[in-house]
Amino acid sequence: MKSKLDSHPTAKASAAVPLPSFWRSAGAQPVALLAGPCSAESPEQLLEVAQAMAAQGVQALRAGVWKPRTRPNQFEGRGAVALDWLQNVRQETGLALITEVASAAHVEAALAAGIDGLWIGARTTVNPFLVQEIAEALRGAQIPVLVKNPVNPDLALWLGGIERLAAVGITDLAACHRGFSSFGETRYRNSPQWEVPLELRRRHPELPLLGDPSHLAGKRELLRPVAQQMLDLGYDGLMIEVHPAPDSALSDPAQQLTPAAFAELVAALEPRQPDCPDAQYHQALEALRAQIDEADAEWLAALARRLAFVAEVGRLKHARGVQAFQLERWQDVHESRSTWADALGLKPEFVQRLLELLHIESLAHHAKASKTVSAASPSN
Ligand code: PEP
Ligand code: MN
Repeated sequence: MKSKLDSHPTAKASAAVPLPSFWRSAGAQPVALLAGPCSAESPEQLLEVAQAMAAQGVQALRAGVWKPRTRPNQFEGRGAVALDWLQNVRQETGLALITEVASAAHVEAALAAGIDGLWIGARTTVNPFLVQEIAEALRGAQIPVLVKNPVNPDLALWLGGIERLAAVGITDLAACHRGFSSFGETRYRNSPQWEVPLELRRRHPELPLLGDPSHLAGKRELLRPVAQQMLDLGYDGLMIEVHPAPDSALSDPAQQLTPAAFAELVAALEPRQPDCPDAQYHQALEALRAQIDEADAEWLAALARRLAFVAEVGRLKHARGVQAFQLERWQDVHESRSTWADALGLKPEFVQRLLELLHIESLAHHAKASKTVSAASPSN
């Protein structure tokens, strides 16, 4: 089915057409950079970080004015008064400004203050009523809007938010990947689930895709590998939190960088290009891809053979009234395949995950085979 996004003005743009400038590198940097504090805390804090970001050549200064907090009784932003500080920062530095909106009232205040761009946060994208309210408040406005992924890995909800904005005439849209919430301690504050933004890119290659390594990683020491991964995957830009004194920040102290650490991070990022015109490179690539195709055909054939044997086992067990799942065999499969994986230089955890997927499919084949037996010989 065609979505509203398919009729978005940028939808038919070819790769040669430049992205809207707000989401595109200004030239000196490998990707678009939107940087600034998690929250606008004071006029001085904002100006100090803005001056440093202007010197870095970022596209826009980010600063939260209204902060959506997971728990009550935390700092919820300075509110509308900080919009005045932002206006002052623009006068002083010439930087474009981007802030988060989570309601129609926020949109009205931000538009009245002449804010240059808006973002919709993860806790708002998750709520279609709120996104629709924001979209209605933006009807007729021409302002770039960045839509962060919802907190849960639901691509339809993420795209739905973008479609709601496209439907009211917002043309300068971009998506921002900041990771997904999960229960319990994990390496990152939010799990990357790279497959979700990559599927968004596959479906909508015309839509600029930015990454937010700060909220994804949650710890400043993890920012660099995450940001580099985003560049490796062809993201168009990064949104990064920068604070003059991160440890005393009123929100997200662990993930904000000092301006100096931000400059270091940007300098350390290795730019990636989408392609390379070199003929030798293309030849070598084609040859390797042909071998990958062959290897894929082999393992897919092996997979089909495996599932056919599984179906046979299913029929055999069903005929004797034996249960499908047998713990000992499953443990044996796990252990032996981990050893084989290791010997082949494959990560055992990766092979475990594959096996779990395969097991679910195998049980389904098992069940199907049992039904076939029952239908063929109801007396079984
Ligand atoms: C933010 O960017 O300050 C923010 C609250 O982000 P997120 O919506 O990704 O949590
Ligand atoms: Mn933050």
